[in-house]
Amino acid sequence: MWVCSKCAEPLPGRGWHCPNGHWRPTSSTPTGSFLQGFLGSFVFCLVIAAAVVFTRFQRENPWDPLSHRVFAILVLLGFAYFGIDNLRNAGKWRRMGGAIAAAAPRARGRAVGDFVVLGISLLAILLLVLMGKTSSLW
Ligand SMILES: [Zn+2]
Repeated sequence: MWVCSKCAEPLPGRGWHCPNGHWRPTSSTPTGSFLQGFLGSFVFCLVIAAAVVFTRFQRENPWDPLSHRVFAILVLLGFAYFGIDNLRNAGKWRRMGGAIAAAAPRARGRAVGDFVVLGISLLAILLLVLMGKTSSLW
């Protein structure tokens, strides 16, 4: 089930707006379990992280090492923002109660799945730095 995160109204059926006129693409959120949120965001973030690594290993690499590092750091900051935002929403929605409270566990799962990928990425970068491989690998 989808819920409007602005007014906490459940969203039946289809359409672009909630019953109170909020724009659904930016204000709706799905309810669900911690595991649903975790798996969804874990896979999503892992695919993005793999894509970032992949761009570094293409035969005709369009990236110079510096711009690839800047790009990788921006993606990691994006992960951090996504995780913090979901954690904040999870706390807020649980306090609001009602229909939107059912979306809180899924948001918390999204945050944790995202933080796991962020942690793996940071650990991988740390390992590369420790191994002195930074110039060739990221
Ligand atoms: Zn609404």
